[in-house]
Amino acid sequence: MSFDECYIKSVMRTIPDWPEPGVMFRDITPLFKDPKALRMISDEFIQRYIDTDITHIASIDARGFLISSIMAYQLNIPLVLVRKKGKLPGKTIQREYALEYGTAAVEMQIDAVTEGDKVLVFDDLIATGGTVLAACTIIKELGAEVYETATLIDLPDLGGSEKIQQSGIPVHALLAYE
Ligand code: AMP
Repeated sequence: MSFDECYIKSVMRTIPDWPEPGVMFRDITPLFKDPKALRMISDEFIQRYIDTDITHIASIDARGFLISSIMAYQLNIPLVLVRKKGKLPGKTIQREYALEYGTAAVEMQIDAVTEGDKVLVFDDLIATGGTVLAACTIIKELGAEVYETATLIDLPDLGGSEKIQQSGIPVHALLAYE
């Protein structure tokens, strides 16, 4: 089954003004109710990475977990979690990033990745790029290499994917919404 962008976009849902006025929320939950869509997306990512030398997928809280765990299972490589602040037990390393108003932070356990690891960073959507860049900073601080960022949806108008690429990290997105 080959990837069909029109089909995936027809299954997705956009909720205007949620969670606050002015935001066009790209809701991916219908994709998980549609086995054909979920299989199409997962297979597309798996095909891209099956012949690479990535050693880990670092998956971003929380919708990123859903697709990347299927990828990690099929690629037979470890899945490590990038979580919002305060969710991970044990020793963690944390990075803050700017939001439109205020800041947020993500963290990883300090033994999640190490020197010599080649890590694919996965999130469901890239908006300003702040979350992915914070995750990449942690991964590099732990001594590992970031191979690429993969995402289902890019919002190019918000400039995040460009910012990530300018920092030297490639971005692979299956869909874009202008
Ligand atoms: P950012 O750090 O600005 O790139 O934001 C990315 C994170 O926020 C992702 O984990 C998304 O799940 C979520 N997000 C941001 N904007 C949207 C949007 N318009 N629709 C759905 N999710 C969004």
